[in-house]
Amino acid sequence: MPGKSHPCPLSRAEDVRRCDRRPAHESQSMPDQSAEGAIESQLSEMLPELTRLRRDVHAHPEPGFRERRTANLVIAWLESLPHMTLRTGLAGGTGVVATLGEGKPGPCLALRADMDALEVPDECGQPHASTVPGVAHVCGHDGHVACLLGAARLLARNPEGLGGPVRFLFQPAEEGGAGARRMCEDGALENPRPRMIFALHCWPFLPVGTIGVRAGAVMASTDAVNIEIRGQSCHAATPQKGVDAVLAASHVVVALQSAVARRTDPIEPGVVTIGSIHGGSVRNAIAANVILRGTIRAISAAKREQLRQAVREIAVQTARAFGAVAEVDLVPGYPVTVNDEHAAACVLRAGRRALGEDRVIAALPVSMGGEDFAFYQQVVPGAFWRLGTGREDGTPVVPLHSSAFDFPDEALPIGVRMHCALAREFSACYPGR
Ligand SMILES: [Zn+2]
Ligand SMILES: [Zn+2]
Repeated sequence: MPGKSHPCPLSRAEDVRRCDRRPAHESQSMPDQSAEGAIESQLSEMLPELTRLRRDVHAHPEPGFRERRTANLVIAWLESLPHMTLRTGLAGGTGVVATLGEGKPGPCLALRADMDALEVPDECGQPHASTVPGVAHVCGHDGHVACLLGAARLLARNPEGLGGPVRFLFQPAEEGGAGARRMCEDGALENPRPRMIFALHCWPFLPVGTIGVRAGAVMASTDAVNIEIRGQSCHAATPQKGVDAVLAASHVVVALQSAVARRTDPIEPGVVTIGSIHGGSVRNAIAANVILRGTIRAISAAKREQLRQAVREIAVQTARAFGAVAEVDLVPGYPVTVNDEHAAACVLRAGRRALGEDRVIAALPVSMGGEDFAFYQQVVPGAFWRLGTGREDGTPVVPLHSSAFDFPDEALPIGVRMHCALAREFSACYPGR
């Protein structure tokens, strides 16, 4: 209804009505099929080059904020395309923003790829394995870069059916560095502000050829927790003369699990993990200090706050019961990644159109991992969707961040096709005005 409120703060009510008209491709605003045919044939021609590029990026991984070589590859590729305006040097130096059809009057759409690798060894065993000791593309961001570059070229060469500008974001430091926030601070979502933003992430638990998405929360908030527990040292044989920080810390670790189990609604997921514990130095002395480090995960702002408060109280009070003092430092991480319902619907329609009805999973389970894509979604509505990269030949799934992970080249054309289909589906839903 006109004027009715909806969860898409930057969309106009009439746009939402148009976007909700299902199926969009059966309406007058159906994406142009002749352009789709051209995109498909050009995609087949481009695939060997794109595969080489993906393997080249894989062989030369760069950790967050140091993606200089990768950014130069991205810039060189984008500079060769027609109607593309580039901004470089964003987000600490390696961020790249390209806009296709800048100045076009219609609504702008943004597509994002992350470029960083992780500081883990590469054990994929392929000829294109990392040439950089201790650094590897084990989260598939090499594939993300290749998919978005492929789409940029195909959309630049086949702009028919695009109602407005298309913004391509290549960002640094997704893996803990909040590169997306830096991109926003440097104006990646301004002039013009996109109406919607989309990003894919490879997902080894879905087979190649499929995609998945869901509306609402898809990834968790990620707050870091550091707890210092201070006691008083003395001889191990006279514990009554000191305050045992190891004993207090042990009880704190156990008690913290009650933050999830007893302080918050069990219907909604939450995680408190203490992943690191360090204290004491010798076997025959009572330890004076213990440092605990962990992470707090939630999929709503309310639960996030409840868990933060519970962790603080439980740590302080439990330590006090043992005569120790706990100092709790909570470091905000990524917000909850929340998919806008209209953006998620756009992904579903694009997927069904580009891949087929049975290749689209509409209610993918929530992951308690985190994603800095959430920072973009605080500025514009968007959807973060999964690109299947699992194999169906019975070989065991290699999870993300495993040193054996390697983005499968078979998924490249699916990612490119989906980016293009999304851009065209968005234009069909939000025709230029
Ligand atoms: Zn990752
Ligand atoms: Zn990732």
